Amino acid sequence: MTAIPEPRTAELAQHLEALDERIERACLAAGRQSGDVTTIVVTKTWPVSDARRLVDLGVHELGENRDQDARAKAEACSDLPITWHFIGQLQRNKANSVARYADYVHSVDRIPLVKALDSAAERAQRRLGCFVQVSLDRDPAGHEGPVGHRGGAQPESVADVCQSVADSDQLDLVGLMAVAPLDEAAEDAFTRLADIHQSVIRDFPEAAWLSAGMSSDLESAIANGATHVRVGSAVLGEREYVR
Ligand SMILES: *Cc1c(COP(=O)(O)O)cnc(C)c1O
Repeated sequence: MTAIPEPRTAELAQHLEALDERIERACLAAGRQSGDVTTIVVTKTWPVSDARRLVDLGVHELGENRDQDARAKAEACSDLPITWHFIGQLQRNKANSVARYADYVHSVDRIPLVKALDSAAERAQRRLGCFVQVSLDRDPAGHEGPVGHRGGAQPESVADVCQSVADSDQLDLVGLMAVAPLDEAAEDAFTRLADIHQSVIRDFPEAAWLSAGMSSDLESAIANGATHVRVGSAVLGEREYVR
């Protein structure tokens, strides 16, 4: 007989079940297998105890967007089988830290950052999987503010960033990543992303993965080929502050 789970674990289990159903429905609608979509649960702003509960519930792919929090959480969970995805905008001076705990970095968007991550991974004697982040903002100049700017290489420089990752010693190019812009329907933005992904795959067949879709727009992302969805609030609840 299994013990009755404590309330927070029961809540997370229920949210995970609802999320699986959403993903299954979206895959069915898109004619895809639900096994082709990996869920990364984004634990940012939530405590280590929630990360432990998620692992107990069978979730092994976790995402974080700030180095300081991610590093502390990864250290506190070093006894657990977790694959850590770093999904936030990344400054070069954080590369050494991130390379020590992250398995994947989703926000690789410029060549100097590629070089910093490659040296950092070398120093840490680790390999890092890299998603090249694409900006889907149609008017980059209009989105320089702290709210609007979500990182990412402009579509025309994505191939160069991919080439730089492919030429690295310690980095593995695995795919592309994007966040839907705030001022455009996610379907439209993710349709453009799918086209960019198709053209990247022609030159870099190893870039087969597509990290797109969050709590609010994962259906549109799955319809457009996402292989990895990054879901926070639909599993853990509303965050008290937005980052
Ligand atoms: C926070 C975050 C997510 C998850 O967002 P939710 O809306 O909570 O699902 C996904 N991707 C990135 C880059 C994030 O920063």
